[in-house]
Amino acid sequence: MRAVVTDFDGTITKRDVAELLLQEFTGDAWLEIEREHARIGTRETLVREFDLVRATRLQILAAAERLAEIDPTFPTFLAYARRNGIPVEIVSEGFDTYLGHLLARWGLDVPFRTNHAEFDDDRIELSFPYADATCTLCGTCKMDRVLALRAAGYRVAYVGNGISDICPALEADLVFAKDDLAALCRKHEREHIPIRDFGDVQRGIASWQ
Ligand SMILES: [Mg+2]
Repeated sequence: MRAVVTDFDGTITKRDVAELLLQEFTGDAWLEIEREHARIGTRETLVREFDLVRATRLQILAAAERLAEIDPTFPTFLAYARRNGIPVEIVSEGFDTYLGHLLARWGLDVPFRTNHAEFDDDRIELSFPYADATCTLCGTCKMDRVLALRAAGYRVAYVGNGISDICPALEADLVFAKDDLAALCRKHEREHIPIRDFGDVQRGIASWQ
């Protein structure tokens, strides 16, 4: 049995939607915090970055719709996975407000685990329902899903592009990587398949029997 766990921002979307939202609502202010990402972890990075944002829920949704661009090969890959009985799930260090909204707009029904945002007028408060109790680095523990699916008897392929994808990539049975994750895999000497999009993932899964 095969399963696929995938990142959302910059992996299913062409560019990182959370980063596009930060750029839209804070200008370059978030970049100073982003430079500390590898040192302070994703959870603290996110909290500090979105603390700078002044935007209502509706403004976030409108901006996400305008800025987000889906990898056009993802729906085709999803259909392929369904036909072949391969479960696909999303793990994300973004947050539910825009992620759920975008998937619904694109007509995609994929289970996801991500951080939770509460809005108080134009302030955003993030919380972390899928955090690992023993690790403070990430909001959503992506590795938990890889381990849980493996414990359920699956061989797990992981797809990602960022710093928060390295833990699950180190645990997965097969890794598809681009951008920062590809660089981190090289650094950790983690075998991986470099990808441009889900067309490459589909070819890789097809030959992984
Ligand atoms: Mg990403």
